[in-house]
Amino acid sequence: MIRSTGLQYAYPGGQPLRFPDVQLARGGVLLLSGASGSGKSTWLALVAGLVRPTAGALTVADQPMEGLRGAAADAWRAAHIGFLPQKLHLSEALTVQQNLAMAQWAAGQPENAARIHATLEALGVSELAARLPQQLSGGQAQRVALARAVLLQPRIVLADEPTASLDDEAAAQAVSLLLTTAARHDATLVIATHDARVAALVPPAADGQIGFQRLSLLREQLSKA
Ligand code: ADP
Ligand code: MG
Repeated sequence: MIRSTGLQYAYPGGQPLRFPDVQLARGGVLLLSGASGSGKSTWLALVAGLVRPTAGALTVADQPMEGLRGAAADAWRAAHIGFLPQKLHLSEALTVQQNLAMAQWAAGQPENAARIHATLEALGVSELAARLPQQLSGGQAQRVALARAVLLQPRIVLADEPTASLDDEAAAQAVSLLLTTAARHDATLVIATHDARVAALVPPAADGQIGFQRLSLLREQLSKA
């Protein structure tokens, strides 16, 4: 589902970031850890087709990412990637329902209220559909953002620092929600985090699951010439 060899990305004028090779099967879970600045968010951006590799090969959901750009990249991303960003980016002027409808419109799909309701319901927040984001707690807002990420039933779910600024109990809930939600959608899941608690929050049983991997990005590795 995600396969890379010799993958590199260089920001304009910057040193190339070098990433370890990855081979992650469909339905697999990848825990991408590493200190702040080690390249986790950049790796997610590569997998989401937001930036293109400057060297190496990357294939995501059978799509070689090297040549994918512009409108084709946007359409591909809408069809295959569910993204849970660190900053949730819910539109403050829109209700929860409208925020999810917006994701359907943005993907060129007609609004599907039944799908929105079912997705919110599965995450335990369907009663919040008429609220504005500012009327949600942090945990509720994250559930809504996760609902938006899986609304279009993506094959891959990318979560960037999903436990940042959460207390232990909320962090445990967030990780468990990601694992169960991805499994329900048969999606491949990547959790990128510098939060040392997360490794312990992924239950040991998950190690027996198909394709479960832990991968550490090291700043030293990235900067090595
Ligand atoms: P992480 O998510 O692990 O904290 P990032 O992928 O955000 O790491 O960053 C990896 C490296 O790339 C860091 O050295 C960071 O300073 C650099 N970097 C990130 N974004 C940019 C950017 N837009 N322009 C230039 N350098 C960047
Ligand atoms: Mg980051």
